[in-house]
Amino acid sequence: MNDCLFCKIIAGEIPSKKVYEDELCYAFYDIAPLAPTHFLVVPKAHLASAAEVTEESAAVVGHIYAVIAKLAKELGFSDGYRVVTNVGAIAGQTVHHLHFHVLAGKELGSFN
Ligand code: AMP
Ligand code: ZN
Repeated sequence: MNDCLFCKIIAGEIPSKKVYEDELCYAFYDIAPLAPTHFLVVPKAHLASAAEVTEESAAVVGHIYAVIAKLAKELGFSDGYRVVTNVGAIAGQTVHHLHFHVLAGKELGSFN
């Protein structure tokens, strides 16, 4: 997508600190970390949010969770981490390209 920040990061037009990349997804550290480990995993194909996931595009979401599980082992936080995706401004989504926050390295507390 022309004017999408994360599409520009995937294309290398805006710098990022890469964690992982394959043909389907790209992972990079969040610029404003909320935990000692905080990175984002995004599908390379633009989708605005999880609300746009269809049966046709759903496989990439499973792939991203498998990548996160692999990275958790490799990076040493497989004992506990949080995966979050915000959908829409009302939930705090500021970048409208589907992304999964991966947070680890501290007591994360409960949601409620
Ligand atoms: P959300 O609020 O769920 O849309 O999350 C967007 C996230 O993208 C926030 O945690 C931001 O800190 C992060 N972010 C924004 N710009 C960049 C950037 N250029 N590089 C890395 N992370 C970014
Ligand atoms: Zn995009």
